[in-house]
Amino acid sequence: MAERVIPLVDARAASRSAVVPSLLQAPTGLLQDQWGRPLRDLRISVTDRCNFRCNYCMPKEVFDKNYPYLPHSSLLSFEEITRLAQLFVQHGVRKLRLTGGEPLLRKNIESLIAQLAQLRTPDGQPLDLTLTTNASLLARKAQALKDAGLNRVTVSLDGLDDAVFRRMNDVDFPVADVLDGIEAARAVGLSDIKVNMVVKRGTNDDQILPMARHFRGTGVTLRFIEYMDVGATNGWRMNEVLPSAELIAQLRAELPLIALDPNSQGETAVRWGYADAFGQHDPALGEVGVISSVTQAFCGDCNRARLSTEGQLYLCLFASQGWDLRSLLRSGASDREIAAAIAPIWQQRDDRYSQMRSEMPPDASPAQSARRIEMSYIGG
Ligand code: SAM
Ligand code: SF4
Ligand code: SF4
Repeated sequence: MAERVIPLVDARAASRSAVVPSLLQAPTGLLQDQWGRPLRDLRISVTDRCNFRCNYCMPKEVFDKNYPYLPHSSLLSFEEITRLAQLFVQHGVRKLRLTGGEPLLRKNIESLIAQLAQLRTPDGQPLDLTLTTNASLLARKAQALKDAGLNRVTVSLDGLDDAVFRRMNDVDFPVADVLDGIEAARAVGLSDIKVNMVVKRGTNDDQILPMARHFRGTGVTLRFIEYMDVGATNGWRMNEVLPSAELIAQLRAELPLIALDPNSQGETAVRWGYADAFGQHDPALGEVGVISSVTQAFCGDCNRARLSTEGQLYLCLFASQGWDLRSLLRSGASDREIAAAIAPIWQQRDDRYSQMRSEMPPDASPAQSARRIEMSYIGG
């Protein structure tokens, strides 16, 4: 096997200052970026640490004991996160997703959830509050998360075969414990549970059918994610991506599926429903989704912003620079000033990385790849 060259460039330091404009306009909730895209979804990374070493995200060779994780003083406090989230809600955000690193490793995460659960939209509605986790601590924490006001949960699981999964998480973590976490989440009443599986050709593509058979008819929605060239440390190659079209063809050979309409604009997954004997979608059997970030870019509808663990605002998963909101928070700026500083950042946004990559030759490596930020820092 050819040797992989893993560039070691720390892009976390690259950030721009968020500037308070001289004219302070109150948020309207109607912000649009350069491509007319609204701001609806804020993903908040609460830690850059993780107890897994998934090789597509935090490979062991890079994220070892010498890796310079952020010191605690750099992290946004729960009060700072909640304050920013409220301002984003005023700008139109309706969905908050806690992520990381592994969000359940952040101490007292349930107290952050309790604060976020109090937030309301300008017309008094609660937000869609969710969390993405590797589920290693979910069985232990599910009840506290539910009690704090979490609505939903997404669990990452890359296979059912124990040997395959242990190899992928690279810390020898067993499948059974993740399944226990999913069960616990269901038992405490967390609804709409989703399971995300990153598919790497030649590594876990033999797990597609077992995973689909396992979750079909259980009320848990399985979603297959194309392995992405996010970050600069995973040694990504196009030939390890299994295009979703191929995956759906594989599934359909055994399990009849029919295409379903999207639930909402900007939804990342394309939905397929399991069909009954008459070729109609059977809701009791449920559905699967495919997230084709590589082969079918969905930048056109992308309404997501990402807040890093230390308060940098990223406008795209593939951005190489963030906007420093923490300095603004800690400078004593008022809510009005911070909200006014956020507006032009979104209005100037013209990111559409995946779409541009899909217009390049298949194995092209975009020029700025070595500077891309890691997924564990800004969250998925
Ligand atoms: N630790 C949590 C977890 O694994 O669910 C939350 C953070 S993780 C960065 C969020 C999601 O990003 C996970 O579902 C993970 O599988 C996905 N992810 C990470 N690296 C990826 C890559 N290179 N391509 C596609 N998905 C990736
Ligand atoms: Fe950790 Fe999630 Fe990244 Fe895996 S995908 S290394 S569980 S942050
Ligand atoms: Fe959104 Fe960037 Fe992903 Fe496109 S590449 S869908 S703009 S996060």
